[in-house]
Amino acid sequence: MYDIRSMERSEIAELMAKLGEPKFRAEQVWRWTAAAVGGFDEMTNLPKNLREKLAECCELHRPEMLAEQKSSDGTIKYLWGLADGSAVESVVMQYHHGNTVCISTQVGCRMGCAFCASTRGGKLRDLTPGEMLDEVQWSSKASGLDISNIVLMGIGEPLDNFDNVMKFLRMVGSPEGAGIGMRHISLSTCGPEGGIERLAEEDLQLTLSVSLHASDDETRSRLMPINRASGGVKRLIERCNAYRKATGRRVSYEYLLASGITDTDEKAELLAKLLSGSDGHVNLIPLNHVDGSPLEPSDPERVQRFKAILESRGVNVTVRRRMGADIDAACGQLRSKRQNG
Ligand code: SAH
Repeated sequence: MYDIRSMERSEIAELMAKLGEPKFRAEQVWRWTAAAVGGFDEMTNLPKNLREKLAECCELHRPEMLAEQKSSDGTIKYLWGLADGSAVESVVMQYHHGNTVCISTQVGCRMGCAFCASTRGGKLRDLTPGEMLDEVQWSSKASGLDISNIVLMGIGEPLDNFDNVMKFLRMVGSPEGAGIGMRHISLSTCGPEGGIERLAEEDLQLTLSVSLHASDDETRSRLMPINRASGGVKRLIERCNAYRKATGRRVSYEYLLASGITDTDEKAELLAKLLSGSDGHVNLIPLNHVDGSPLEPSDPERVQRFKAILESRGVNVTVRRRMGADIDAACGQLRSKRQNG
C-alpha cells in the first residue's frame, strides 16, 4: 500500500503513470492530497473507477479528533487519533503576529527527560510526513483559524525522526498545501549526536531551538539523559556555533526554570559564561509541573532575577509567555492522562 498523503507531487505523478493515468489526473490527485482531503470519495473531479483504483492501492486516513480543549487565552489543544489507534497532540496558539501550531513528530519519545510527560511510556513509533501535515492542516480546519507558523515542539524528538521530518518540511511549504515557509518554522531539539550536524547540511532557513535547560553537565545529565550520550553542554554549544556558522541562522536556546535546580544565581552566571562568544537567544521557560515529577516551577521574582543576571552579562533573553496553562497544554500531558485512564 502507498501512503499517498506522504507522497510529494513527483511521487504521485510516478504512481499515476504506473496506473496508466494521464498527467492531468496526477495533478488533480496531488491537489486533493496536498489540501488534506479526508478520503478518495471526496475527490469529486475524478472518475469513480479511478477513485476505486486509488482506494485499492493507497492508504488515506483522516485523523480522528479524540479531544479538544480550549484555554481562556485562546489556546486550543487537540488529541488526534491515528490510523493504528495511537494518539498525538497538537496545540494551536493565537498571537498578535499570527497563529502558531505546535506539532508532535513521534508517538511518544525515547529521550527520557525527567520533567517531560511525553517520554513516560517511551517511543511507540515515528510519525509519517503525512501525519505531521495532517496535524497542521486538520488543526487549522478544526479551529477555523489560518495557521502562519509551525513549531516542532510537541511530543517526540524531531531529529530522531530525521528523514520523515525533512520530507514534511519540504511538503508543508507547497502552495497547494499549507504553504508555510521555512522562515515561519521552528524546530526544537534536545541535541542528539549527529542530528544538528545533519540539519546544518540541509541548510534550511528555519529556526533551530535547542533545549539546553541547564548550564552544567551534572544538572543537565540528571534532567536529560541525552546529555551524556552527546558529549555534554560545552560540546553542545560548540555544535550549535558550528550550525550558526554553516547556516547563518542564529540559534535559540530553551532554558527551563525549575525551582532550586536550574534557577539559582550561580546557574545564571554559568549560563552566561557558557554562551559568551555565541549570539544565541535564550528563552526562559517557566516549568509546567507534571504529575509525579519532583520538579517545581520557579516563582516569578526568581524568573525576573535570573533574567536580569543574564541581561547584565549581555545575553539576549526573553521569558516565554505561558499559554494554555489551564488546559494541560504542556508537552504530552493530555495524551499521558488519557493513557492512564
Ligand atoms: N524533543 C524536542 C522537542 C519536544 S519538547 C526537544 O527536546 O526540544 C519541546 C519543549 O518543551 C522542550 O524544550 C522541552 O524541554 C519542553 N518541555 C517538556 N516538558 C516540559 C514541562 N513540563 N514544562 C516546560 N517545558 C517542557
